[in-house]
Amino acid sequence: MTNLRIGHGYDVHRLTEGRALILGGVTIPYEKGLLGHSDADVLVHAVMDALLSAAGLPDIGVLYPDTDPKYEGADSMELLRDVVGRLKNYEIINASVCIIAEKPKLSPFVQQMRDSLGKALGIAPELVNVSATTTEKMGVTGEGKAIAAAADVLIRAK
Ligand code: MG
Repeated sequence: MTNLRIGHGYDVHRLTEGRALILGGVTIPYEKGLLGHSDADVLVHAVMDALLSAAGLPDIGVLYPDTDPKYEGADSMELLRDVVGRLKNYEIINASVCIIAEKPKLSPFVQQMRDSLGKALGIAPELVNVSATTTEKMGVTGEGKAIAAAADVLIRAK
């Protein structure tokens, strides 16, 4: 039991026109996308920070700074695989992820997100849960100005 570590990650990105909406490595048809230095996959960023936090490592802002041109337009799934590589002394047990968005409707894409995240994490899709909620039209997410994501992961030292 003492080898178990929990980690939490949270991220928010602004919605804007002229960008693709990518969540959990899945491109979702929508009139807007998330703004960011990388592909702005808010869900993957939350998972990355949860993993790094569980392992006691610096966060993604430190490891993959948005001031570094190397990460401009970066594929966040690739960065996630890099994070997983940094956790080679740990086994990932499960991930629980929540997307906070007023629109679009995400349930048709949840299974695809679980599949792609599971693949990157090296665990079965059943061990990656993705839920979605709204904030009842309140705040930046509720007003459709942004999408947020929160993630929790459990890892075990090998
Ligand atoms: Mg981010």
